[in-house]
Amino acid sequence: MLVKNQILSLQAYQPGKSVEEIKKDYGLAKIVKLNSNENPYGCSPKAAEALARSSSQCAVYPDGQAMNLRTKAASHLGVNEDQIIFGAGLDEVIQIISRALLTPESNVVMASPTFSQYKLHAVIEGAEIRETATVNGHHDLESMLSQIDSQTRIVWICNPNNPTGTYINETSLKDFISRVPKETLVVIDEAYYEYVTAEDFPHSVKLLENNENVMVLRTFSKAYGLAGLRVGYGIGSSSFIQKLEVTRLPFNTSRTAQIAAEAALEDQNFIKECVKINEKGLKALEAFCEEHQINYYPSQANFIFLKTDNGAKLYELLLQKGYIARLFPDGLRITIGTEEENEQLLSDFKDIV
Ligand code: PMP
Repeated sequence: MLVKNQILSLQAYQPGKSVEEIKKDYGLAKIVKLNSNENPYGCSPKAAEALARSSSQCAVYPDGQAMNLRTKAASHLGVNEDQIIFGAGLDEVIQIISRALLTPESNVVMASPTFSQYKLHAVIEGAEIRETATVNGHHDLESMLSQIDSQTRIVWICNPNNPTGTYINETSLKDFISRVPKETLVVIDEAYYEYVTAEDFPHSVKLLENNENVMVLRTFSKAYGLAGLRVGYGIGSSSFIQKLEVTRLPFNTSRTAQIAAEAALEDQNFIKECVKINEKGLKALEAFCEEHQINYYPSQANFIFLKTDNGAKLYELLLQKGYIARLFPDGLRITIGTEEENEQLLSDFKDIV
């Protein structure tokens, strides 16, 4: 079969070992999964109830427009219904944007390290990738601006950034956007938005009012605890969103995902509780790092990045104790678990560092 040249240079996504395999290999009875930034408390009980009720409707196609969810999300965000595009997770929204905008003549600008899917889709579409190294985990906005030219179709901003957890404040983001040409789309990926507690974090949805070339991404996979159902969304100007809608598959979000996401959105108390516990866990881990002279990036998300040359060894030692972290070339990313898991982690960590 003849496939695009750029696909020949890629490898299909390789999932790591399953929890069951790790348990067997390491002789462990229990595993704490801290590698994918999921909500350790799962989803709101109200979403779980809605999900259980929805199972009787599986024979019927979902509403392709996700109207009920759309109405609730629009009112929650204070935007018009036609300003939202839903995807099977943000992964799909990132794919839709890349597919709609990128050509082999174009380029994209992003930080490094950042979320991997921006680059993957740029490669698939044959676009040139312009990465700028993060500075202490932060996007280097000046360097990113210097990379933009008339062929730049997308600038990816991951806020807070995955894997570093650092954030860009309102003043810096506004200044950045004002200096990006209007023909270039600035995508602000806020997958971890709900976890943010910093007061100077941007009110990004407000920024859409004066900037047609800005889009904001949010997901139900993280704080809302619905990663397994796959639903995320992009918010932008109605005219741009209507163009993107053309490339969206007609029934891309399932009926069950829509129903659970609606219920999840209504239970903001659940989110508040989870965010409070996350902040406490994050602070305890940061304090632990200070105490043991471990370099880390201050995080606004539900994970922390430990910057170390010793990542592979730490990863292995944690695994032996039953914790799956995520290994990167220059460190380790650890998701914040439940209160009990955090306490246990810190106690086990003492024996390791
Ligand atoms: N953006 C960022 C920054 C992420 O970390 C993730 C998940 N790891 C995604 C997008 C994709 O999330 P989902 O497809 O589950 O909505």
